[in-house]
Amino acid sequence: MAAAETWTHGRLLEWTAGYLQEHGCENARLDAEVLLAEAAGCQRIDLYATFNEEATEACRVAFRELVRRRAEGMPVAYLVGKREFFSLAFRVTPDTLIPRPETEHLVLAAVDRSKELQAEISDRPLRAADVGTGSGIIAVCLAKHVESLEVLALDLCEKALEVARENAATHEVAERVQFQAGDLLTLVEDDTLDLVVSNPPYVSQDELRDADREVKDHEPHLALVGGVTGTEVISRLVPQAASKLRQGGWLLMEISPMLETRVRECVVETGSFELSPTIHDLAGHARVIEARKL
Ligand code: GLN
Repeated sequence: MAAAETWTHGRLLEWTAGYLQEHGCENARLDAEVLLAEAAGCQRIDLYATFNEEATEACRVAFRELVRRRAEGMPVAYLVGKREFFSLAFRVTPDTLIPRPETEHLVLAAVDRSKELQAEISDRPLRAADVGTGSGIIAVCLAKHVESLEVLALDLCEKALEVARENAATHEVAERVQFQAGDLLTLVEDDTLDLVVSNPPYVSQDELRDADREVKDHEPHLALVGGVTGTEVISRLVPQAASKLRQGGWLLMEISPMLETRVRECVVETGSFELSPTIHDLAGHARVIEARKL
C-alpha cells in the first residue's frame, strides 16, 4: 500500500473529482478519470488496476495542465481530442461541434432510408450530401453502414473539413466520401442527390446566451447558432434540398424540439415534400424531421 502522501492514481482521482466539482463540472469524477487516462497514456479501465500505483512525474505534469483547463470550462472532448459517436472514435477540435448522442437518431434514420432506397435503386450508387459536416460524424457513419453510398460532405469551415477528412481516413471510408467547402447545397447540381442529411446550426441567439459555458465559450458558434430565431439556416437549406434531391429522395434534419412546428411548416411550404412523423429522441423531444421529395 502506498503511503498516504504519495500521489497514487487513486488519490489523484479523488482530489481532482472534488476540485472539478467545486469548479462547476457536472461529471467531475468521470472527467477526472478520462483526463488521468489521457495523461497516463492508458485506457480509463486500466486506472483501476493501477489505483495504488504512484503517478509518474510526466503524468502528473500533463494531468495538472489538463485539469487546469477543464476547471476553466474547456470540454473534455477538446482536451483529449476525441469523442465516441455511433460506437466509433472521432477526432474533434474546437473547429468542430462535439458529437451529441441525439444525433445518433438522425444517423439511424438516414441509414434506414438509404437501405430502403437501395432496395428500389440497384443500378447505380446512391448519392448523399451531409450539409455542415463538422467533424464528419454523419458522413462517415453513413458511408460505413451503407456500402453503396457516395457521400458529399460539405462545410463552410475549411478547418472542420480537415478534421472530417482525417476521420474518414481513420474509419476507412475516404474513397466514398468527398469533401467540399461551400455554403449549404449551393455548389450541388439540381436533381442529383438521393439523400440530404444535416445537423444544421439551430440554436437561437437567446438560447446561446443561456447555454452552459462549455458550449457558449468553447464550441464553434458557426456550427451552433442559426440566428435570432434559430430557423435561419434551416429555412435556406429546405428549399435548396427540394431542388437538389431527385424525386423519391429523402431530406433528414436534426432540429431543436422548440422549432418543430416552424420547421415542418417550412418543409410543407416548398410544396415539394411529403413529411413523415417527427422522430423523437430518448428524452422524448422532437429531434429529427424526415421528408420525401415528391
Ligand atoms: N444540440 C446542440 C445543442 O443544443 C445544437 C446542435 C446544433 O445546433 N446543430 O447544443
